[in-house]
Amino acid sequence: MAHQEHFVYRFGKLHTDGNKSMKQLLGGKGANLAEMSSIGIPVPPGFTISTEACRQTINNQMAWPDSLEEQVEAGIRHVEAEMGLKFGDEKDPLLISVRSGAAVSMPGMMDTILNLGINDRVVEALVQKTNNERFAYDSYRRFIDMFGDVVMGVAHEYFEEALDKLKKEAGVKNDIDLSAGQLKELTDRYKAIYRKQTGHMFPDDPMEQLKFAINAVFNSWNSARAIKYRKISNIHGLIGTAVNVQAMVFGNMGENSGTGVCFTRNPATGEQKLYGEFLLNAQGEDVVAGIRTPSPISELKDRNPSVYQELLNYTHKLESHYKNMQDIEFTIQEGILYILQTRNGKRTGAAAVKVAVDMVHEGIISQIEAIRDLVEPGHIEQLLHPQFQEDSLKESKILGTGLPASPGAAVGKVVFDSKLAEQEAEKGEQVILVRIETSPEDVGGMSSAKGILTSRGGMTSHAAVVARGWGKPCVAGCSDIIINYKNKSFTNGEVTVKEGEWISLNGNTGEVILGKKELTEPTFSNEYRVFMDWVGDVEVMSVRTNAETPEDAAVARSYGAQGIGLARTEHMFFKPGRVNFMRKMILANNKEERKAALANLLPFQKQDFLEIFDAMEGLPVTVRLLDPPLHEFLPQEKDEIKKVADELDVSFEKLQAKINQLKEFNPMLGHRGCRLGITYPEITEMQTQAIIEAALELTKAGKTVLPEIMIPLVGSVEEFRNQRAVVDKTAKAIIEESGQELEYKVGTMIEIPRAAIMADQIAEEADFFSFGTNDLTQLTFGFSRDDAVKFLHTYLSNGILKQDPFQVLDEEGVGQFVEAGTRLGRMTNPNLKIGICGEHGGDPESIDFAFRTGLDYVSCSPFRVPVAHLASAQSVLRKDTEESKAEELTPFDL
Ligand code: ADP
Ligand code: MG
Ligand code: MG
Repeated sequence: MAHQEHFVYRFGKLHTDGNKSMKQLLGGKGANLAEMSSIGIPVPPGFTISTEACRQTINNQMAWPDSLEEQVEAGIRHVEAEMGLKFGDEKDPLLISVRSGAAVSMPGMMDTILNLGINDRVVEALVQKTNNERFAYDSYRRFIDMFGDVVMGVAHEYFEEALDKLKKEAGVKNDIDLSAGQLKELTDRYKAIYRKQTGHMFPDDPMEQLKFAINAVFNSWNSARAIKYRKISNIHGLIGTAVNVQAMVFGNMGENSGTGVCFTRNPATGEQKLYGEFLLNAQGEDVVAGIRTPSPISELKDRNPSVYQELLNYTHKLESHYKNMQDIEFTIQEGILYILQTRNGKRTGAAAVKVAVDMVHEGIISQIEAIRDLVEPGHIEQLLHPQFQEDSLKESKILGTGLPASPGAAVGKVVFDSKLAEQEAEKGEQVILVRIETSPEDVGGMSSAKGILTSRGGMTSHAAVVARGWGKPCVAGCSDIIINYKNKSFTNGEVTVKEGEWISLNGNTGEVILGKKELTEPTFSNEYRVFMDWVGDVEVMSVRTNAETPEDAAVARSYGAQGIGLARTEHMFFKPGRVNFMRKMILANNKEERKAALANLLPFQKQDFLEIFDAMEGLPVTVRLLDPPLHEFLPQEKDEIKKVADELDVSFEKLQAKINQLKEFNPMLGHRGCRLGITYPEITEMQTQAIIEAALELTKAGKTVLPEIMIPLVGSVEEFRNQRAVVDKTAKAIIEESGQELEYKVGTMIEIPRAAIMADQIAEEADFFSFGTNDLTQLTFGFSRDDAVKFLHTYLSNGILKQDPFQVLDEEGVGQFVEAGTRLGRMTNPNLKIGICGEHGGDPESIDFAFRTGLDYVSCSPFRVPVAHLASAQSVLRKDTEESKAEELTPFDL
């Protein structure tokens, strides 16, 4: 006889099936029900039909695999025996619930059906047995409603309507005020609705009810909303949903019965205190459905102290077992407590850190587990930004939802113009800059605004990238609203918001909210400091920051930055008062004029470096030499050109001619990076002079400065050699003349694919590499980041790309260049320091890749520094865990 495949698993035993984890096989809910019953938590008996049964049934046009029916029947007999009841019996009937649950918790799947197994005879048996006619008919009418709605697709509203009508006729307000007779009447009306809507009689054979329900769960796996949810959430590799069949326990048997939900700790603050709600004489999701107002869990203590104490004991037991804060569903039947579900509870960033640290101090988990399992990078990110006070969001008018482009909460008055935003901010007003899209011309206004809202653009649009860099809340691409610059207003078709009116932005969710909501400022708890210390003990790579102002450098250092990985010098040239010297340099007719203009820039540049080196004293600072094409420094609009020509004392025609001359077909691939320094070595000389003089000055004052000069956009060793020679010659002369000692490094950015595969040659000449993964991604894909917004969305929704490669490093493709560059570089220069900078340096997945590739550091914007620290420590622990392969059975992360 053929080997019979196992599809049905009883609660109470731990199961493994080869390499499949319990969660893969039984779904998250089923695995936890099995596990809870095996450790002595009072779970009503039941069984789980595996995800594999779901897969086979769906593949087989809904025909069950051979032995499934038999196994389900055996499962029911097991539950009958445990309960001393019989399914469909006319004396001692067993009722069951049918609950869905995949390996990953997933909205869109089938809702739970309670009280399955009732029919006209069974309900009478319940009346006899419990002497509680009201309870029996309450259960029956709920069952017809749920079965009709969930299994047969009869809209719940039909039943709701009938219920309201009956309540009116009876002159009562609440469901619980209906008498037994009235509920009995209601079941008849429900059955009539069912008949009318489905064209069938309500099935009264319990076994048939059960089969219908199981098939409905199987089918829900491929419902449109479930498929959509999996796609949006990037859930792959699951084979189906499991079905849990479980004996009913009844919270609706009277005033000493009830149902509730609770967290083992406060999910908003992390405080170690039971937190939740319950309802007496209620069933299922009455608590969350808002039919009656539930009571806080603390009241259960007064109402039924022994049940409360029992619940408390089980929560402790579950916490120590799962080593995590739990979110629990329970039911009390005539004074007896049952636990119906447990899972790791969702929590705020503040709560995550507090719970993790408290649990270590309580001896429940180790420091390593706290870092690896209890705090996510996103939690840390939340702590760094203001958030909305939860209460203040209760009655919110949501105007629209865009992309959560940069986290945190912001409130301010709407302003549509960047200049106006700056002016208002100077007057002390709080403003939100609202633009269709932003461009580099808006940066002044963006920096003055509390938050940024755009109606167009994606997660890597200009607004999104700039806002994230500054840690400023941003909602991008909110197509629910239409902006009208002329009328100075925006509308969602229903509400129109004018300039000067208050709005609130939620950068964590992408919501745009009408009015001014209350904010809480970020504060760093003691727990946070303790936690970050532990993180520091574990991590291997260091975390640097991208910063070009002393302010940013200081902020980043206070967040734990261990140096600067990228200081972009061009940002210093854009500052007012300087940009015209830069323009003079560009307009110079010959080397002499150019040198004269550069000499004017030198003191500014030196002052910048003095301040940055000082802020980063004792830590390495990587300064990148001039990178962008020169036309970026010149005006574009006619009026602007006129104005600048006047300021520079040159003719309009001359400036216009220069602009035309510098115009490039493809600036990304144009005259930029080291190509500038090679054509105009005096630029490299001036920048080197500023760096070295600043470093010497501070060294003289007894400070340690570790300058690292980075040459951008190198594609061949000859380019690097050329620029290094200029740097060395300039630096050596200055150092020698000073009579002081100073160590400096010269390295390059690896951002051109050719450089990555020629890295062995380049590394012979370079002291360090920094992977500029923004340009490397552009050049490897051949996508211009600014233009890619036009098609990336389509690529993502068609699955041509799984993730935006400008946000998460494309490990498969671009990653090969990073790997090759690292391997080849270390081959010829074992001491080569290697890092990564750009957007990817702050992204946890990309950080993990950097760690696995063996890089020495990542560099990211100041506000991502703590996030990067955690991600980097988690990479270390993940690798350890994989190596010890010790992750069987726990924890179940639902
Ligand atoms: P969800 O995934 O939506 O949380 P559940 O399967 O947990 O759905 O079921 C929802 C609610 O139904 C539970 O919280 C519980 O109150 C109730 N319920 C489920 N099974 C039973 C049962 N065997 N006895 C009593 N109530 C149950
Ligand atoms: Mg539900
Ligand atoms: Mg539940």
